[in-house]
Amino acid sequence: MFCVPFFHYLSDMKNIAIIGSGTMGNGIAHTFAQYGFQVNLIDISLDALGKALNTIEKNLDRQVAKGILTEQEKAGTLNNITTKTDLQEGVAQADLIVEAATENLELKLKIFKDLDLFAKPEAILASNTSSISITQIAAATNRGANVIGMHFMNPVPVMKLVEVIRGYATSNETTNAIMELAKQLQKVPVEVNDYPGFVANRILMPMINESIYTLYEGVAGVEEIDTVMKLGMAHPMGPLQLADFIGLDVCLAILNVLHSGFGNPKYAPCPLLVNMVMAGKKGVKSGEGFYDYSRGVKEAMVAEKFG
Ligand code: NAD
Repeated sequence: MFCVPFFHYLSDMKNIAIIGSGTMGNGIAHTFAQYGFQVNLIDISLDALGKALNTIEKNLDRQVAKGILTEQEKAGTLNNITTKTDLQEGVAQADLIVEAATENLELKLKIFKDLDLFAKPEAILASNTSSISITQIAAATNRGANVIGMHFMNPVPVMKLVEVIRGYATSNETTNAIMELAKQLQKVPVEVNDYPGFVANRILMPMINESIYTLYEGVAGVEEIDTVMKLGMAHPMGPLQLADFIGLDVCLAILNVLHSGFGNPKYAPCPLLVNMVMAGKKGVKSGEGFYDYSRGVKEAMVAEKFG
């Protein structure tokens, strides 16, 4: 039988490549670098890489101000990060690759095909996908045992959970290595099986979608819906604000995976969400979603926008 090499010891993992430097990629790079790993942060867009470094520096400043890190640790973290636009060069030395590129099946299949060619045979290939099948991604490679979901939460340096998703072919060794690695990052890993949306988004996205339907049907406005959920359910953030924070395009992509994966109409994305994404209103990252962020403060959009 073809035997796939793997890392037996965590100490073997030193070099990490992160693919995609957007909302999640910069946070994942920040977190690995903070805990002493050498990180190559890779993106097709130089502009995105520049923005990612700015965001990481701002978030490190916040950690210094809160007394979580010293100035020296901040400098050390930044020193551990190198940016790259060339995938082959960026992953060649990596022991672990965490893919955090745009939530799109074809794109991820292409990236994993390339990773199979360019990465060391023993490297673990992880995806931070919110919902796309790890089993399907793994099937694009010849090393399914080394492919796994490593689903960080946003904002990565702050949130404790890592959902660790076992694809059909993922080995125990790969799973154990990623569970232990997540603990090294001071995270709490939870192992789950590979079905649409896994656990986190299977439960979260229907709630977000229902809150968008509630707005769309004129039951209440943006702030009213978010206030009910914040004060009534003790959620730290209302579902519409959370959707803006995640990215409305990401929410739509996840709902589409749930809808097609289960074939159940209860997951059909609200037409208002579809319209907003088509209009380029993606939430915080585009400056406007259910709230307007263009003036540097969060302001709820008026109800007429959503009729
Ligand atoms: P994003 O849109 O903020 O960033 C995606 C980045 O990927 C962009 O900078 C883009 O230039 C880059 N990219 C696209 N194609 C690429 C390629 N071929 N090679 C390298 N880089 C490429 O997206 P995001 O919100 O950071 O999401 C990334 C992944 O993380 C998705 O799979 C998403 O489902 C998942 N995720 C997102 C959240 C969230 O809250 N946004 C939470 C958990 C997981």
